Amino acid sequence: MSGKVTLVGAGPGDPGLLTVKGRAALAAADVVVYDRRGSPAVLDLIPGTARQIDVGKEASRHPVPQHRINQILLEEAQAGHSVVRLKGGDPFVFGRGGEELETLARAGVAFEEVPGVTSAIAAAAYGGIPVTHRSFSSSLHIITGHAREGASLSIDFDALVRARGTLVFLMGVTAMPIIVQGLLEAGMDPDTPAAMVENGTLPSQRRCDATLSTLPRQAAAMGIHSPALIVVGGVCALGRELCWFERLPLHGKRILVTRPRARAGTLADKLRSLGADVVECPCIETIPILPCPAMEAALRDLSAYEWLAFTSPTGVETFWFCLRELGRDARHLGGVKLAAIGPGTAKALAERGLTADLVPGTYDAAHLGGALADAARGKVLLLRAAEGSAALTDALAQRGIAYDDIAVYRTLYLFPHTRALREELEAGKIDAVTFTSASTVRGFLSTVGADADFSRTVGLCIGEQTAGEARKHGIPVRVAEKATIDSLVELVSHSFLGEQRKESKEKP
Ligand code: SAH
Repeated sequence: MSGKVTLVGAGPGDPGLLTVKGRAALAAADVVVYDRRGSPAVLDLIPGTARQIDVGKEASRHPVPQHRINQILLEEAQAGHSVVRLKGGDPFVFGRGGEELETLARAGVAFEEVPGVTSAIAAAAYGGIPVTHRSFSSSLHIITGHAREGASLSIDFDALVRARGTLVFLMGVTAMPIIVQGLLEAGMDPDTPAAMVENGTLPSQRRCDATLSTLPRQAAAMGIHSPALIVVGGVCALGRELCWFERLPLHGKRILVTRPRARAGTLADKLRSLGADVVECPCIETIPILPCPAMEAALRDLSAYEWLAFTSPTGVETFWFCLRELGRDARHLGGVKLAAIGPGTAKALAERGLTADLVPGTYDAAHLGGALADAARGKVLLLRAAEGSAALTDALAQRGIAYDDIAVYRTLYLFPHTRALREELEAGKIDAVTFTSASTVRGFLSTVGADADFSRTVGLCIGEQTAGEARKHGIPVRVAEKATIDSLVELVSHSFLGEQRKESKEKP
């Protein structure tokens, strides 16, 4: 049976601007055909099970020619696959989407098109420029600044000037001086507001505010590169007042998230929504120890324990899995009391219909140990990482509380980027690294090398034990007030608040 091609607009770069329908198509794809212009954060949404074909460059570093792309789409669909062709912005706005669909239509291959958010509107919007506004313009013109090979620009500048609308030029960085000259020669006022937005909607976005006559000089001074938009018209004057995106508290800050990917979601997303350029670099991975005879034996004889204590959601997940494997459910817990190290772990219990009887005031191993020692009369069962902190068992042992400490998962250290990451770090290009456990510190060190120079970054730590591990290795640290993800996010934004103010004061 023949497959199908879905042409999906990926939006201008911010992964939040991929449509719901586009995201669903990606999730269901067998094959994804994309090119290098795609934003890395959007490409991260491609499921691991899908085969990826990068048509942006081949071994020779030349883009794959259009006729070859058309052929790839055809062949993959005819082989019965569900193919997503991902294109920047909207596929039909200077995206050659029409050409790709024509080939499919002629060959009788099924296809669909999912429109995307075009950079022509969105990059301007993130630069604080509404492309139409009742006081300034009543039409919007989207123009290519790219000439066909060997030809010169064929733009009717007289018609554009006469129309008095907002002009948005795509692919116009190289030809910008020629475009400006064309508009001036056609009689446009040299003081007409004009702007360029580079890397629009991405954390690296920059905006150049100018007038038509000063744009070439100002853009050159800033070194504006592709991809960038040129916007010409009265609406550009609003950019300074409305540029909300560049004012986000973490805009321009590059922050490394070291948690395992499955758990990076919330932290990375929260930092992104504050404008941070988040680098996801999972330095550790947790592997459940299954089967786990020690845990099975303890669970069979659960009435021997007064307390069952967890130090992470992973511990809860592994315990629950094992319980179900034994053919049991929550009723099996009977009167055993439940302790959780913090709200994240308590939430993992709550998701299984279980309420934690004890959560210490400070969310770390030492405080959990102290609180358990205060509360316990009988034996305690600890289901936690093989590398769990001794602070917990020490606290119990000191007070003569009996316990069984069973390792139910292991932490693996990953080696994702290594050299490139270390270079960025030492060059001061990583403003902060977030650590959510002592094991993420150790994983990070094995990634970049413990002898790296950490003086140009700061480790933002979820709690004291994590910070202690980072300090030991000479990483400058700050510690979140409470050991929760929200508190860590607050720490990150507070850490850069002063700098933002300083920067904005310096501006005239
Ligand atoms: N189909 C795309 C446009 C493809 S043409 C869309 O609808 O957005 C490529 C041009 O789009 C670039 O040369 C640049 O002018 C513009 N562009 C794409 N992404 C951009 C971004 N993030 N910021 C600014 N301009 C961008």
